[in-house]
Amino acid sequence: MTGPRIEMACATCLAPLNVLDGDYIHPLSLGDVGHAPKPVPVTQLDTVHRTCDFCGDDHPMWTLRGGGVKVLATGSETNLLQDMGETWAACVACMADLDAGKAHRVVDRAVRRMRVHDIPFAHAETTKLHQAFLGQRQPGRTLITTTAWPDIKLSPRDLPKIRDRLTQFYRGPDELPATLHITQRHQLADSLDRARLYWIDNSFTELAEHAASQMPAVTASKDLAPGDDGLLVWSRSATARQITAVSWTTRADAIHAVVYRAIGTGLDDTAMQHLRDEVGWLAPMRAFDLRHEQLVDDAHHPGCAILLATWLLIAQKAAETVPAEADKAVRKRYARTKRPLPDVRIVRIRAHTHRDDIGTAATTTGTGRTYTSRVWVTGHWRNQAYGKGRALRRLVYIHPFLRGPEDAPIKLSTTVRILDGRNSAKPDGNASK
Ligand SMILES: [Zn+2]
Ligand SMILES: [Zn+2]
Repeated sequence: MTGPRIEMACATCLAPLNVLDGDYIHPLSLGDVGHAPKPVPVTQLDTVHRTCDFCGDDHPMWTLRGGGVKVLATGSETNLLQDMGETWAACVACMADLDAGKAHRVVDRAVRRMRVHDIPFAHAETTKLHQAFLGQRQPGRTLITTTAWPDIKLSPRDLPKIRDRLTQFYRGPDELPATLHITQRHQLADSLDRARLYWIDNSFTELAEHAASQMPAVTASKDLAPGDDGLLVWSRSATARQITAVSWTTRADAIHAVVYRAIGTGLDDTAMQHLRDEVGWLAPMRAFDLRHEQLVDDAHHPGCAILLATWLLIAQKAAETVPAEADKAVRKRYARTKRPLPDVRIVRIRAHTHRDDIGTAATTTGTGRTYTSRVWVTGHWRNQAYGKGRALRRLVYIHPFLRGPEDAPIKLSTTVRILDGRNSAKPDGNASK
């Protein structure tokens, strides 16, 4: 075999796969998973269900390089020589213990989690295993960006510190996976320093997600984005890709965008503090260039549909953006370091859009049903003429409307209804703007 083997995971269950006699197999620790492994390179997956190679935790955060370790696992039917390799995944707690020079605490955590703490030699054997790896540990570490975390609740007031931690990470020594192709980290950090910060509220996130599910290919251009540099955070993770945020910077030939997932939810206080100090709230998942004058879509630029939909909806004035008040702590911190106050904008549905759409909805859905909440229905993208002589075209999202009484809460569902040509419920004549 030449060169390092490409790491593979199962496309069905997202577990990293081991190799036995040249075949890919599920890790024995998973037991009977009930399906045959479907190997795909991990670089094709946004999410991989790795575990901490030290303690088994479900949320590994760092890849470390060290000594190659092979383990002989003896079972009732087979003996398996498992190659644990020269790169190990470490969770936040194990990383913190290793940084503090407390490798014995990592061993304690491992034997507790494996429930072998009362088995003779378990402690000593685990120590030997860890030491075989750690004894040859190389300097540096790489952030794992494919770990799925529970959703996080962020608010507009969090944005300045989220931005500042991200710039600090980009300027710091911790590495990102080479497969992300994020190279100009200092330029990204500089761009984030200049960025306007957008927080997208719940109902606008819902609308954007709805519109993104039907997003056609778009011709990219410099003026697609509401500014040259930005950081945009949705009120919750959006789309099946679980994207929480995106940052972008405009270059001569393209808009360079990075999509992020939120990390750290569910950690205990000590581990959480470590993560917030060292990484922050966001981990990059993908980066792409939206080249000016080229057609772009989600198939070729995974994750771009929700971004494009949000930008276009902001541009077509479906949203209003209102400045958010910086809180006292942020004011003080920025004043102390003589930085201008961060420009945070809250993006929400325009108030009068509600009324227009609901008016129409009431006339077209006069079925006598009463609704206790509002839901987004229908809507589709259309290329609309604009500009001098109506010679230019831009995509506009037509007829998104809310069904239900105006004072009812908007129901946040992930159910997406896609308009088809035969849908008679389409509210005709609603395009008042
Ligand atoms: Zn599987
Ligand atoms: Zn661990």
